[in-house]
Amino acid sequence: MARDERQAIEHLLARHGFHFSKSKGQNFLIEREIPRRIAETSAAERTNGVLEIGPGIGALSAELCRRAGSVVAVELDTALLPILDETMAAFDNFSVVNADVLKLDIPALVRERFAHLTPIVCANLPYNITTPALTALIEARCFESLTVLIQREVAQRLCAAPGTAAYGAFSVYMQYYTEPRLCFEVPPECFIPAPKVTSAVLRAEMRAAPPVDVADEAFFFRVVNASFALRRKTLVNSLTTAFGALGKQKLTDVVVSCGLDANVRGERLGIAEFARLAAALREAGG
Ligand code: SAM
Repeated sequence: MARDERQAIEHLLARHGFHFSKSKGQNFLIEREIPRRIAETSAAERTNGVLEIGPGIGALSAELCRRAGSVVAVELDTALLPILDETMAAFDNFSVVNADVLKLDIPALVRERFAHLTPIVCANLPYNITTPALTALIEARCFESLTVLIQREVAQRLCAAPGTAAYGAFSVYMQYYTEPRLCFEVPPECFIPAPKVTSAVLRAEMRAAPPVDVADEAFFFRVVNASFALRRKTLVNSLTTAFGALGKQKLTDVVVSCGLDANVRGERLGIAEFARLAAALREAGG
Protein backbone atom coordinates (compact mmCIF):
# COMPACT_ATOMS: atom_id res chain seq x y z
CA MET A 1 0.00 0.00 0.00
CA ALA A 2 2.71 2.47 1.05
CA ARG A 3 4.70 1.55 -2.11
CA ASP A 4 1.68 2.36 -4.33
CA GLU A 5 1.15 5.65 -2.52
CA ARG A 6 4.83 6.53 -2.88
CA GLN A 7 4.76 5.76 -6.61
CA ALA A 8 1.60 7.77 -7.19
CA ILE A 9 3.21 10.76 -5.43
CA GLU A 10 6.46 10.38 -7.36
CA HIS A 11 4.50 10.34 -10.65
CA LEU A 12 2.51 13.41 -9.65
CA LEU A 13 5.67 15.33 -8.70
CA ALA A 14 7.53 14.25 -11.85
CA ARG A 15 4.58 15.29 -14.06
CA HIS A 16 4.79 18.79 -12.52
CA GLY A 17 8.60 18.88 -12.70
CA PHE A 18 8.75 19.38 -8.93
CA HIS A 19 12.03 19.10 -7.01
CA PHE A 20 12.21 18.90 -3.21
CA SER A 21 13.78 21.81 -1.38
CA LYS A 22 15.73 21.00 1.77
CA SER A 23 15.79 24.64 2.87
CA LYS A 24 11.97 24.70 2.82
CA GLY A 25 11.84 21.62 5.05
CA GLN A 26 9.97 19.58 2.44
CA ASN A 27 9.25 16.05 3.68
CA PHE A 28 5.83 14.94 2.47
CA LEU A 29 3.71 12.31 4.18
CA ILE A 30 3.12 9.23 2.03
CA GLU A 31 1.19 6.91 4.36
CA ARG A 32 -2.46 7.99 4.18
CA GLU A 33 -3.01 6.61 7.68
CA ILE A 34 -0.71 9.22 9.29
CA PRO A 35 -2.46 12.38 7.98
CA ARG A 36 -5.75 10.75 8.98
CA ARG A 37 -4.49 10.25 12.56
CA ILE A 38 -3.07 13.78 12.72
CA ALA A 39 -6.38 15.29 11.56
CA GLU A 40 -8.22 13.12 14.10
CA THR A 41 -5.85 14.28 16.87
CA SER A 42 -6.62 17.90 15.98
CA ALA A 43 -10.30 17.12 16.69
CA ALA A 44 -11.22 19.39 13.74
CA GLU A 45 -14.93 19.54 13.05
CA ARG A 46 -17.38 21.62 10.99
CA THR A 47 -17.35 24.48 13.51
CA ASN A 48 -13.57 24.87 13.11
CA GLY A 49 -11.49 26.98 10.75
CA VAL A 50 -8.14 25.22 10.39
CA LEU A 51 -4.94 27.07 9.62
CA GLU A 52 -2.48 24.66 8.03
CA ILE A 53 1.13 25.65 7.50
CA GLY A 54 2.87 24.07 4.52
CA PRO A 55 0.24 21.90 2.79
CA GLY A 56 2.85 20.41 0.43
CA ILE A 57 0.78 18.35 -2.02
CA GLY A 58 -2.22 18.26 0.29
CA ALA A 59 -1.98 14.91 2.14
CA LEU A 60 -3.00 16.41 5.48
CA SER A 61 -5.11 19.18 3.89
CA ALA A 62 -7.51 16.60 2.37
CA GLU A 63 -8.05 14.90 5.74
CA LEU A 64 -8.67 18.27 7.38
CA CYS A 65 -11.14 19.33 4.67
CA ARG A 66 -13.15 16.14 5.32
CA ARG A 67 -13.66 17.26 8.93
CA ALA A 68 -13.42 21.07 9.21
CA GLY A 69 -15.65 23.93 8.13
CA SER A 70 -12.79 25.62 6.32
CA VAL A 71 -9.08 24.97 5.78
CA VAL A 72 -6.71 27.81 4.91
CA ALA A 73 -3.22 26.60 4.05
CA VAL A 74 -0.19 28.89 3.98
CA GLU A 75 2.38 27.61 1.47
CA LEU A 76 5.68 29.32 0.71
CA ASP A 77 6.62 27.31 -2.40
CA THR A 78 4.91 28.63 -5.54
CA ALA A 79 5.84 25.40 -7.38
CA LEU A 80 3.32 23.51 -5.21
CA LEU A 81 0.31 25.65 -6.17
CA PRO A 82 -0.56 23.90 -9.48
CA ILE A 83 -0.17 20.53 -7.74
CA LEU A 84 -2.55 21.59 -4.97
CA ASP A 85 -5.02 22.83 -7.61
CA GLU A 86 -5.11 19.27 -8.87
CA THR A 87 -5.00 17.26 -5.62
CA MET A 88 -7.46 19.50 -3.74
CA ALA A 89 -9.92 20.10 -6.62
CA ALA A 90 -12.66 18.09 -4.90
CA PHE A 91 -12.75 20.31 -1.79
CA ASP A 92 -14.57 23.64 -1.88
CA ASN A 93 -13.66 24.43 1.76
CA PHE A 94 -9.93 24.64 0.94
CA SER A 95 -7.89 27.70 0.00
CA VAL A 96 -4.18 28.46 -0.23
CA VAL A 97 -2.33 31.60 0.77
CA ASN A 98 1.02 31.78 -1.03
CA ALA A 99 3.17 33.36 1.68
CA ASP A 100 5.87 32.87 4.28
CA VAL A 101 4.01 32.14 7.51
CA LEU A 102 6.70 33.96 9.49
CA LYS A 103 5.94 37.21 7.62
CA LEU A 104 2.18 36.92 7.77
CA ASP A 105 -0.25 38.89 9.94
CA ILE A 106 -1.83 35.72 11.37
CA PRO A 107 -4.55 37.38 13.51
CA ALA A 108 -5.68 39.44 10.48
CA LEU A 109 -5.84 36.34 8.27
CA VAL A 110 -7.83 34.46 10.91
CA ARG A 111 -10.27 37.37 11.34
CA GLU A 112 -10.75 37.64 7.60
CA ARG A 113 -11.14 33.91 6.78
CA PHE A 114 -12.64 32.32 9.87
CA ALA A 115 -15.59 34.54 10.82
CA HIS A 116 -18.07 32.39 12.83
CA LEU A 117 -15.59 29.49 13.04
CA THR A 118 -13.36 28.48 15.96
CA PRO A 119 -9.75 28.73 14.74
CA ILE A 120 -7.31 25.87 15.32
CA VAL A 121 -3.94 24.97 13.81
CA CYS A 122 -2.99 21.63 12.30
CA ALA A 123 0.24 21.19 10.37
CA ASN A 124 3.20 19.05 9.45
CA LEU A 125 5.62 21.89 10.13
CA PRO A 126 8.80 22.54 8.16
CA TYR A 127 11.25 21.51 10.90
CA ASN A 128 13.68 24.37 10.27
CA ILE A 129 11.08 26.92 11.40
CA THR A 130 9.49 24.97 14.28
CA THR A 131 10.41 27.40 17.07
CA PRO A 132 9.57 30.71 15.31
CA ALA A 133 6.40 29.19 13.82
CA LEU A 134 5.13 27.91 17.19
CA THR A 135 6.01 31.24 18.80
CA ALA A 136 4.10 33.18 16.11
CA LEU A 137 1.08 30.87 16.45
CA ILE A 138 1.00 31.27 20.22
CA GLU A 139 1.52 35.03 20.02
CA ALA A 140 -1.34 35.33 17.54
CA ARG A 141 -3.56 34.50 20.54
CA CYS A 142 -6.46 33.40 18.37
CA PHE A 143 -6.28 29.60 18.29
CA GLU A 144 -8.00 27.12 20.55
CA SER A 145 -5.39 24.41 19.94
CA LEU A 146 -2.26 23.59 17.95
CA THR A 147 -1.68 20.10 16.56
CA VAL A 148 1.71 19.83 14.89
CA LEU A 149 4.01 17.16 13.51
CA ILE A 150 7.53 18.11 14.57
CA GLN A 151 10.86 16.48 15.41
CA ARG A 152 10.39 14.02 18.27
CA GLU A 153 13.21 15.59 20.31
CA VAL A 154 11.57 19.00 20.04
CA ALA A 155 8.19 17.56 21.07
CA GLN A 156 9.86 15.93 24.09
CA ARG A 157 11.50 19.25 24.99
CA LEU A 158 8.20 21.11 24.83
CA CYS A 159 6.54 18.60 27.18
CA ALA A 160 9.57 18.13 29.47
CA ALA A 161 9.27 18.29 33.26
CA PRO A 162 11.60 20.35 35.53
CA GLY A 163 14.84 18.61 36.42
CA THR A 164 15.07 16.61 33.18
CA ALA A 165 17.75 17.09 30.51
CA ALA A 166 15.15 18.07 27.90
CA TYR A 167 13.65 20.87 30.04
CA GLY A 168 14.55 24.39 28.93
CA ALA A 169 13.32 27.95 28.42
CA PHE A 170 11.10 26.94 25.49
CA SER A 171 9.44 24.20 27.62
CA VAL A 172 8.50 26.89 30.15
CA TYR A 173 7.21 29.19 27.39
CA MET A 174 5.10 26.41 25.84
CA GLN A 175 3.74 25.18 29.18
CA TYR A 176 2.93 28.72 30.32
CA TYR A 177 0.66 29.36 27.33
CA THR A 178 -0.49 25.83 26.46
CA GLU A 179 -0.95 22.30 27.76
CA PRO A 180 1.30 20.31 25.42
CA ARG A 181 1.01 16.53 25.01
CA LEU A 182 3.06 14.19 22.83
CA CYS A 183 0.43 12.03 21.09
CA PHE A 184 2.26 9.58 18.80
CA GLU A 185 5.50 9.09 16.91
CA VAL A 186 5.96 8.98 13.14
CA PRO A 187 8.97 7.08 11.74
CA PRO A 188 11.11 8.48 8.87
CA GLU A 189 9.79 5.91 6.35
CA CYS A 190 6.38 7.61 6.37
CA PHE A 191 7.85 10.59 4.45
CA ILE A 192 9.26 11.29 1.02
CA PRO A 193 12.15 12.07 1.20
CA ALA A 194 12.74 10.33 4.56
CA PRO A 195 14.09 12.75 7.21
CA LYS A 196 17.08 11.68 9.34
CA VAL A 197 15.06 11.94 12.55
CA THR A 198 11.92 10.46 14.07
CA SER A 199 8.94 12.80 14.25
CA ALA A 200 6.07 13.14 16.71
CA VAL A 201 2.63 14.68 16.82
CA LEU A 202 2.21 17.25 19.56
CA ARG A 203 -1.18 18.59 20.57
CA ALA A 204 -1.19 21.78 22.62
CA GLU A 205 -4.44 23.21 23.95
CA MET A 206 -4.16 26.94 24.57
CA ARG A 207 -4.71 27.81 28.21
CA ALA A 208 -7.60 30.18 28.93
CA ALA A 209 -5.36 31.79 31.57
CA PRO A 210 -1.70 31.27 32.54
CA PRO A 211 -1.10 28.65 35.28
CA VAL A 212 0.43 31.29 37.59
CA ASP A 213 0.03 35.01 38.23
CA VAL A 214 2.73 37.00 36.48
CA ALA A 215 2.74 40.81 36.73
CA ASP A 216 5.05 41.42 33.75
CA GLU A 217 5.31 38.59 31.18
CA ALA A 218 8.25 40.10 29.29
CA PHE A 219 10.23 40.35 32.55
CA PHE A 220 9.16 36.80 33.56
CA PHE A 221 10.57 35.36 30.30
CA ARG A 222 13.75 37.44 30.68
CA VAL A 223 14.23 35.68 34.03
CA VAL A 224 13.44 32.26 32.53
CA ASN A 225 15.89 32.77 29.65
CA ALA A 226 18.62 34.02 32.00
CA SER A 227 18.05 31.02 34.31
CA PHE A 228 18.89 28.62 31.46
CA ALA A 229 21.67 30.76 29.95
CA LEU A 230 24.46 28.78 31.67
CA ARG A 231 23.02 25.30 32.03
CA ARG A 232 26.01 23.78 33.81
CA LYS A 233 26.22 26.58 36.35
CA THR A 234 24.07 27.41 39.37
CA LEU A 235 20.95 29.54 38.96
CA VAL A 236 22.72 32.47 40.64
CA ASN A 237 25.63 32.33 38.16
CA SER A 238 23.25 31.94 35.24
CA LEU A 239 21.20 34.94 36.35
CA THR A 240 24.31 37.15 36.28
CA THR A 241 24.13 37.00 32.45
CA ALA A 242 21.12 39.34 32.52
CA PHE A 243 20.99 40.68 36.08
CA GLY A 244 24.71 41.04 36.86
CA ALA A 245 24.18 44.69 37.86
CA LEU A 246 22.51 43.49 41.08
CA GLY A 247 25.73 41.75 42.17
CA LYS A 248 26.17 38.08 43.09
CA GLN A 249 25.35 38.50 46.79
CA LYS A 250 22.06 40.26 46.08
CA LEU A 251 21.14 37.60 43.49
CA THR A 252 21.90 34.88 46.05
CA ASP A 253 19.69 36.66 48.62
CA VAL A 254 16.84 36.90 46.10
CA VAL A 255 17.12 33.19 45.21
CA VAL A 256 17.17 32.17 48.88
CA SER A 257 14.24 34.50 49.67
CA CYS A 258 12.18 32.42 47.21
CA GLY A 259 12.75 29.31 49.35
CA LEU A 260 15.36 27.95 46.92
CA ASP A 261 18.78 26.52 47.70
CA ALA A 262 21.60 29.02 46.97
CA ASN A 263 23.24 26.38 44.73
CA VAL A 264 20.13 25.27 42.84
CA ARG A 265 20.30 25.00 39.05
CA GLY A 266 17.78 26.80 36.86
CA GLU A 267 16.49 23.58 35.29
CA ARG A 268 15.09 22.46 38.69
CA LEU A 269 12.51 25.28 38.80
CA GLY A 270 8.89 24.81 37.79
CA ILE A 271 6.71 27.61 36.38
CA ALA A 272 5.43 28.66 39.83
CA GLU A 273 9.01 28.96 41.13
CA PHE A 274 10.03 31.04 38.10
CA ALA A 275 7.05 33.33 38.78
CA ARG A 276 8.15 33.76 42.43
CA LEU A 277 11.73 34.41 41.35
CA ALA A 278 10.63 36.98 38.73
CA ALA A 279 8.51 38.83 41.30
CA ALA A 280 11.40 38.89 43.80
CA LEU A 281 13.93 40.03 41.19
CA ARG A 282 11.61 42.78 40.05
CA GLU A 283 11.20 43.97 43.61
CA ALA A 284 14.99 43.90 44.05
CA GLY A 285 15.25 46.26 41.06
CA GLY A 286 16.47 43.66 38.50
N1 SAM B 1 1.77 19.05 4.82
C1 SAM B 1 2.58 18.35 3.85
C2 SAM B 1 2.66 16.88 4.24
O1 SAM B 1 2.44 16.59 5.40
O2 SAM B 1 2.95 16.06 3.37
C3 SAM B 1 3.97 18.97 3.69
C4 SAM B 1 4.76 19.24 4.95
S1 SAM B 1 6.44 19.70 4.66
C5 SAM B 1 7.20 19.08 6.15
C6 SAM B 1 6.50 21.43 5.01
C7 SAM B 1 5.79 22.34 4.01
O3 SAM B 1 5.92 23.69 4.46
C8 SAM B 1 6.33 22.34 2.58
O4 SAM B 1 5.26 22.28 1.68
C9 SAM B 1 7.09 23.66 2.45
O5 SAM B 1 7.14 24.16 1.14
C10 SAM B 1 6.27 24.55 3.37
N2 SAM B 1 7.00 25.69 3.97
C11 SAM B 1 8.32 25.79 4.28
N3 SAM B 1 8.62 26.96 4.87
C12 SAM B 1 7.45 27.66 4.92
C13 SAM B 1 7.09 28.96 5.40
N4 SAM B 1 8.01 29.76 5.94
N5 SAM B 1 5.81 29.36 5.28
C14 SAM B 1 4.87 28.55 4.72
N6 SAM B 1 5.15 27.31 4.25
C15 SAM B 1 6.42 26.85 4.35
